[in-house]
Amino acid sequence: MGSEGVTGGGREPPVALELEGVSKLYAETTAVDDLSLSVREGEFFTLVGPSGCGKTTTLRLIAGFESPTAGTVRFRGVDVSGTPPEARDVGVVFQNYALFPHMSVGENVGYGLNFADPPGGVSRERRVAELLELVDLAGFEERDPEKLSGGQRQRVAIARALAPGPDVLLLDEPMSALDAQLREHLRVQVRAIQRELGITTVYITHDQEEALAISDRVAVMRAGAPEQVGTPTEIYREPATAFVATFVGDNNVFDGEVHAVGETVASVAVGGETLEVATAGHEVTAGDRLTFCVRPENLRVDATTNALETAVSSAEFLGETSRVHLAWGGRDLVIRTPEPREGRVVVGFAPEDAHVIDVGR
Ligand code: ATP
Repeated sequence: MGSEGVTGGGREPPVALELEGVSKLYAETTAVDDLSLSVREGEFFTLVGPSGCGKTTTLRLIAGFESPTAGTVRFRGVDVSGTPPEARDVGVVFQNYALFPHMSVGENVGYGLNFADPPGGVSRERRVAELLELVDLAGFEERDPEKLSGGQRQRVAIARALAPGPDVLLLDEPMSALDAQLREHLRVQVRAIQRELGITTVYITHDQEEALAISDRVAVMRAGAPEQVGTPTEIYREPATAFVATFVGDNNVFDGEVHAVGETVASVAVGGETLEVATAGHEVTAGDRLTFCVRPENLRVDATTNALETAVSSAEFLGETSRVHLAWGGRDLVIRTPEPREGRVVVGFAPEDAHVIDVGR
């Protein structure tokens, strides 16, 4: 559903910003490594990945706070390499609020209007009031930002970034300092605001669940470059690599040798068992090595197809479901069950619930 506004209807919006072959080297670190990606007009695009994979550096390259060691950054097709941040028409929100403490909320929101006229020819006061209303803080103009909650401060920071009417909104882990409940609430608000304005947005998080929940498309980054770019459903259901498969949500990755190949299913030898795996879209022949994954929710207790006899090693009660860790041969598997389990458990999966990640010759 999330991608409909952008990819639905057959006609894709034009590219709003583009990085082509971009690298950023610091003394002995390659922070961004030959990265290419493009973000369309109105798209909510998220960079997700583990600490140190280059997310913040990529955002700083887009904003113009850093210049690339190699490669090109383009806004609407125009090379912006020589364009300073203040001339790039971007609004930036950082994780640590960064509001001006000696200014009121209204002065904070209006700050960018000292350098640019409010869009739409409205007065400064009107623009500030509109934005405070947009972030659900109507009437907060005179308040002291120091006396606001973390979530309120981040909403002021978003209003301040949006006030001059930028073409692109950049958000660097804006919710990481907030508690889990507030984070979930604020992400719904951020998404609603983004949709209402239709503003091209690049969002950074290390939280893969947040990335899936909020985005039109996601780039899963590793070691300075995206390992896969896709819609949340593509990333979750069709991970391109074992890293993506296990970074985004729980997963069970298997690896074995193909024994026999049918029309749609291959028989794969894994840990002394022969497992049937759907091979849709992949060319597979006997003798190949096959890497595939099965999500925990598709590994079902007491299923008779691809049945594996396992022993529970631990279980976490999560409320709605439990996450149960299983030992099978020397491997760890994970499943979801309504209640925590113990003892021995037989789990199995339908061949079409396996997703092939890689075929090696
Ligand atoms: P995190 O989630 O921890 O913020 P990140 O994915 O945003 O990480 P970056 O901050 O972009 O990662 O950093 C990428 C790499 O570049 C890291 O190894 C980091 O130590 C290094 N790096 C970033 N900025 C600098 C700098 N100014 N000087 C030297 N090295 C840097």
